[in-house]
Amino acid sequence: MMQFNVAQLLKEQVGATRDYNVSEDIGAIYGPEIRAIAPLAGVVRLVRTNRGVFMEARLETTILLSCGRCLEDYLAPVPMVIREEFLPLVDVDTGAPIPQNEEEAEFFTINENHVLDLTEVVRQYILTSLPMQQICRLDCAGLCPTCGKNLNVGPCQCEPVSVDSRMSILGELLREAQDDAQDNEQDEEDKGKE
Ligand SMILES: [Zn+2]
Ligand SMILES: [Zn+2]
Repeated sequence: MMQFNVAQLLKEQVGATRDYNVSEDIGAIYGPEIRAIAPLAGVVRLVRTNRGVFMEARLETTILLSCGRCLEDYLAPVPMVIREEFLPLVDVDTGAPIPQNEEEAEFFTINENHVLDLTEVVRQYILTSLPMQQICRLDCAGLCPTCGKNLNVGPCQCEPVSVDSRMSILGELLREAQDDAQDNEQDEEDKGKE
């Protein structure tokens, strides 16, 4: 359930609450922007405030993301805690429009039919909780820049990228330095065992 009719709640006193369990298939709701492959599930609590309805929702879904290195899809769980106050557009008793000041215009709203809709707030929370860098796993090896093979699956047959001779000397020095560093690490480890 993504929509809650709060007409009755709006007629009750400040502090009145409603609790709901949510398990909603949202795959079709957001289209390609959010590829949800698990239901949106969790609990929603609605509390009457002096000017509207405060919602606290603990929800989770699982979405498909595309790895920026290997370009494969991977699953990402998206847990979210939503705390937002929704303001009614019309007075529940008279049906008269409720004028909103500048600050209130930033809030989510309860529509003319007294329906509080989760669709937009959930969309925003999912999008803001996505990682900036989408990577299937920290050590993702990515694609070979030459042949495009996914190096997570295994090595490809490409020669290492050639560098000109001056650079190769530098490369040689770097390799030696790395080897030394590894030897030192090994020494440290050996000492640790003693
Ligand atoms: Zn990857
Ligand atoms: Zn390759």
